[in-house]
Amino acid sequence: MPPEPPPAALRLGIDTEALRANWLALDRLSGSAATAAAVKADAYGVGVLQAVPVLRDAGCHDFLVAHWSEVASLVEIVDPESISVLHGPMNFGDAAFARATGVRPVINSVAQARLWQESGGGVCDVMVDTGINRLGLPLADLADEAIGALEINVLMSHLASADEDVALNALQRERWTQARRQLKHRRGSLANSAGIALGDAYHGDLTRPGLSLYGGIPRRELEGIIRQVARPQAAIMQVRTIAAGDGVGYNSTFVASGEMRVGTIAMGYADGYLRCWSDRGAMMAAGKCLPVVGRVSMDMTVIDLSHAPELVEGDWVEAEYSLPDAAAASGLSQYELLTILGTRFSR
Ligand SMILES: *Cc1c(COP(=O)(O)O)cnc(C)c1O
Repeated sequence: MPPEPPPAALRLGIDTEALRANWLALDRLSGSAATAAAVKADAYGVGVLQAVPVLRDAGCHDFLVAHWSEVASLVEIVDPESISVLHGPMNFGDAAFARATGVRPVINSVAQARLWQESGGGVCDVMVDTGINRLGLPLADLADEAIGALEINVLMSHLASADEDVALNALQRERWTQARRQLKHRRGSLANSAGIALGDAYHGDLTRPGLSLYGGIPRRELEGIIRQVARPQAAIMQVRTIAAGDGVGYNSTFVASGEMRVGTIAMGYADGYLRCWSDRGAMMAAGKCLPVVGRVSMDMTVIDLSHAPELVEGDWVEAEYSLPDAAAASGLSQYELLTILGTRFSR
């Protein structure tokens, strides 16, 4: 056995207090509806092992993942009956896995409904497509007998544009309400993070935030309520002083106009700190802003330490990574900025 590796020179700081506060705030905004947590994609990159115990202890009883492969780490932490798998069963292997683990499949089509029933049936959830045209039961199939035969816990639908004020929101709500009248179910669910901010009429019995749990702010109403959770941090590996005319990094996109002190940190685009931050991102340490200079490399980024003479090799810095600001600066979505953070971060 090789020895345990030493601690990584980059870590994703998880503000568990902010995560807890975000879930509680979304739960409060959800009114009388219960509040689930979307924890797919390793809790949006934050880390299931770190995030889910916090959400569970805050009072969350419903967890959503996309893939069957995401169930294993989750059943170690929460009751299988609290887990829904959004992609649903594609074959008997999936259905058998659902039964063996006790998690609920989300049924997205008549074919999935038949498969689930033929493999033994049992309580499931149903996703009705009310206008996103992505994954879910078409409205025209609501009356199918295979759907009518299902034992449905959560009858859900998903909003396409909850982060915008468009007519589609009310139309989808109306169609979802119709579907709720048509199919027997225990709980109705429509709202994602942004949908929660659309108000009571969108809440049903269960809301399903993801992004905002982890610090994303998809609508103005959530500003000042939702706090940053994920904080990419890296150690300074090397410090040097460069002279006027010296270039930094690949293709010398930054050229020093005078003598300056720069530091190289152990974080690059392979970690999800993308090339879009070249010459425009910044790190923070001791209350100071340390601009990125030159191109972000695969495993390294160089920052300006001119105004932070106290920082030396081995010290840590933190990326400016408030999701709304980072999205505005980079052109990436808040979702991408989170889920792209790589596996080399210790979490
Ligand atoms: C990802 C997902 C959510 C969470 O959406 P956010 O916009 O991240 O809040 C809710 N419901 C379904 C079906 C999802 O796929």
